[in-house]
Amino acid sequence: MEKKREYYDVAIIGGGAAGLTAAIYCGRARLKTILFEKALPGGLATYTSEIENYPGFPEGISGTGLMKLFEKQAKKFGVDFKLTAVKEARMEGAEKVISTFRVDYVAKAVIIAAGGKPRLTGAQGEEAFLYDKGISFCATCDAAYYTDKSIMVIGSGDAAIEEAIFLTKFASRVQISVIHDKGIVDANEVAKEHAFANPKLEFIWNTVVHEFKGEERLRQVVLKNIKTEELIPVDVDGCFLFIGYLPDTEVFKGQVAMDPRGYIVTNENMETSLPGVFAVGDVRSKGLRQVSTAVGDGAIGGVAAERYLAESAYFEEKIMGGEKPTLVYCWNPTDAACRSIMAEVEKLKEKYSEQVKVVTVDMYKAAGLAERLNIRQAPSFALVKDRAVCYKATDCSCVDGVEQEIKKVL
Ligand code: FAD
Repeated sequence: MEKKREYYDVAIIGGGAAGLTAAIYCGRARLKTILFEKALPGGLATYTSEIENYPGFPEGISGTGLMKLFEKQAKKFGVDFKLTAVKEARMEGAEKVISTFRVDYVAKAVIIAAGGKPRLTGAQGEEAFLYDKGISFCATCDAAYYTDKSIMVIGSGDAAIEEAIFLTKFASRVQISVIHDKGIVDANEVAKEHAFANPKLEFIWNTVVHEFKGEERLRQVVLKNIKTEELIPVDVDGCFLFIGYLPDTEVFKGQVAMDPRGYIVTNENMETSLPGVFAVGDVRSKGLRQVSTAVGDGAIGGVAAERYLAESAYFEEKIMGGEKPTLVYCWNPTDAACRSIMAEVEKLKEKYSEQVKVVTVDMYKAAGLAERLNIRQAPSFALVKDRAVCYKATDCSCVDGVEQEIKKVL
């Protein structure tokens, strides 16, 4: 049976901080927008108990609270939400097909905001206890379950130290396994100070996980001292892993350029290697993965997608469309040479008004339009006939040459 098809201007894959921000921008630009989220809207930020460094909330705000506000704002602008996983994305052509289990969604632009997934230790026994069997990645979600219980935290970055402090409010005992020498953690200074002053936190230095043990649920984490190779069995009720994240980019492999670690490579406009496909937030190759940077990316990606759609419509209608050949003059109004040629272009426009359509492209405002004709410098000319470029000139000193070409195609 053929799959049902639905049509949109923009499809956003991922409903974390970056995807929700892109949704706000696309929705507000009145684009028909759909956002896919395979879990719950909010993404990784909902894993954290308190966000203290997102501007506008001097007292801090819970990750879940902040993300609820993002979601509400995106819904206000009419974005459709689909709580389902994107299984396949075919994004090469002008029509990008995003497939879920039941439906193929066809969009003119795609914004990938799929973020990251928690990194595992790779230790023996790990797979058997993931999520509801004792190994957790989300303090906000699971802290209450461990009230008056004993837990282990693995890691020493911001997330590990900040979430370990939060967990001391619930658990009776919180031990942290840190790979570094005594006193060295990778967290920010404020978190470090609070952690070292917290009597409920116990650090186990120079250790990594050797094995996870238990029956139905996790009961023991066996640590290994990396210097002495001593095995240290620690009885626990649960274990939280905060040892970094990996990009969630399997679905997009082979289609957009990625760095060696699997993050999507973009330019500063969030454009990927595929026209009409943008990537924003933690999923892209960049230096700082935070809510504030995800928001910045989402805003840029949303506006870039809007611009791409406007340019596509203009390109189809004004440059490729119609019966007559089209002469395209790519110019820069701030350039004297471009301005002087404009007078010549106007003459051509008048002379051939019945036979040729003349379009001017301001390279300063719409460089993307010129790029579609493979033109990157002004002044330049292109002559389009039957949807193909039949002549192109970047040396425009002689407009007579352009007129000769017009005559040839008439
Ligand atoms: P994500 O939040 O990862 O969202 C991606 C979304 O895409 C997910 O919801 C996922 O389910 C969805 N998705 C993926 N693939 C698919 C698919 N195929 N189909 C449908 N949906 C899909 N940042 C701060 O600024 N301050 C902090 O204090 C802070 N603390 C943190 C504490 C912890 C424990 C963690 C884990 C992170 C913390 N961060 C913090 C980082 C911050 O959460 C991230 O940088 C931010 O959430 C990234 O947003 P994103 O939208 O790019 O990705």
